[in-house]
Amino acid sequence: MMEGTERNNEAVRPLLGKTALVTGAGRGIGRAVALTLASQGAAVAVNYNGSEAQAREVVAQIESMGGQAQAVCCDVSDFAACGKMAEEIAARYGHVDILVNNAGVTRDNLILRMTEEEYDRVLEINLKGAFNTIRHLSRYFLKQRSGKVINITSVSGIMGNGGQANYAASKAGLIGLTKSVARELAGKGISVNAVAPGFIDTDMTGKLSDSARGKLLERIPMGHAGAAEDVARLVAFLAGAGSDYITGQVICVDGGMCM
Ligand code: NAP
Repeated sequence: MMEGTERNNEAVRPLLGKTALVTGAGRGIGRAVALTLASQGAAVAVNYNGSEAQAREVVAQIESMGGQAQAVCCDVSDFAACGKMAEEIAARYGHVDILVNNAGVTRDNLILRMTEEEYDRVLEINLKGAFNTIRHLSRYFLKQRSGKVINITSVSGIMGNGGQANYAASKAGLIGLTKSVARELAGKGISVNAVAPGFIDTDMTGKLSDSARGKLLERIPMGHAGAAEDVARLVAFLAGAGSDYITGQVICVDGGMCM
């Protein structure tokens, strides 16, 4: 009887007992990922930089479902601050099992007009931010001999995108980072994969003009934008035991945009 209940729990909440850090989890895709991982039983550290109220709302929502969560403020581009965040989470939960590098920004411009600041800031957050968290958390993953890292890249990093030289470079770099660290840690029980969303309805894409939106939609075989939850479901799969033999992969969630 007891065994049956445990098996039931495992099926409904496969991430029970796991701890996850999701960066940029107050809004958009990160928020959906945090809520999905929590609904599957994980305790979630909800990282934010500017959106404190939204992050606290995500924590409250997780707690109201009977889950465990905490809001953690940290600019992921700050190496030392990421070290402190990793220590805080490990001290609180005793282990860290899942890292989702979701925090990301755009500063779109044509190459002739792109400023050094626009280029640097996008690379610092989208690419160095992921290095910072992986660098600090891999210490715990190695000690545990387990860990699941999921980096949110973009179809722009695979296909390129005019007006997004900085963003596409950061996301292509993230794919290189994913594959290199995957090779390095594969023998230690740690997997590292990337998820590449296409056009997902969030604040990031809400900034697009109607004509840019229309042009993007024309490139999607399924004919419509995705929802943050479409990405979150794949992230949850990669965070769970079902993905144990998968590492170094880049999986698109894009309605067929990139194939
Ligand atoms: P979003 O709604 O604009 O949210 C961006 C998130 O990144 C926010 O939670 C924000 O947190 C966080 N963030 C930004 N700078 C940060 C920093 N320095 N430190 C910590 N967190 C920071 O964007 P989204 O659409 O959900 O995008 C999430 C990820 O998916 C990004 O990596 C993006 O590149 C990728 N992606 C999105 C799409 C899409 O169509 N939406 C497509 C491909 C890839 P605060 O508000 O707290 O600062």
